[in-house]
Amino acid sequence: MARASTTTIRRIRVVGKERTPWAVRLGLGIPLALLIIAFVSWRLVGLPEEELVPRQRQLADFSFAWSCPNGHSFTGKGQLESRPCPTCGLPAVPVDVYRCTEHGDVKVEIHFDSASEDPQRPKAIQFRLPKGAWTDLSAGVRCPRCDKPMQRLADDPLSHRKHP
Ligand SMILES: [Zn+2]
Ligand SMILES: [Zn+2]
Repeated sequence: MARASTTTIRRIRVVGKERTPWAVRLGLGIPLALLIIAFVSWRLVGLPEEELVPRQRQLADFSFAWSCPNGHSFTGKGQLESRPCPTCGLPAVPVDVYRCTEHGDVKVEIHFDSASEDPQRPKAIQFRLPKGAWTDLSAGVRCPRCDKPMQRLADDPLSHRKHP
């Protein structure tokens, strides 16, 4: 009789020890889970739309000189695709001006990398001289008349990224 009652007491104690931490865990865990869900929902719903498309936003942060095949120039935000010329409607592309010390300035079309490794800084990867073909920009731009390396006149707009 004495043995049986000891066993019963021990079992109750063991069960009691297991129950207390679970009750504490549930008591803290449920509000914590609700807090996390609320925070995540707030982040997803509350973010401005452009923050969910970082690459487009980065390029659109900058203004570029654009030029169409008819020679119309205008200023517009950066984007990977061509942009319709506001004067004639033909597709325009961003342009940069390069200077040869002997032959003067040449307007060069530039093309951005759609798969830039750094989403913070879309990279210009190709250029095209007037009536030329798209060429890799990594080797620099050479004068179409004397083949000497030319210097870009304007600073790289992407190197002065604005921090909103
Ligand atoms: Zn035009
Ligand atoms: Zn030259």
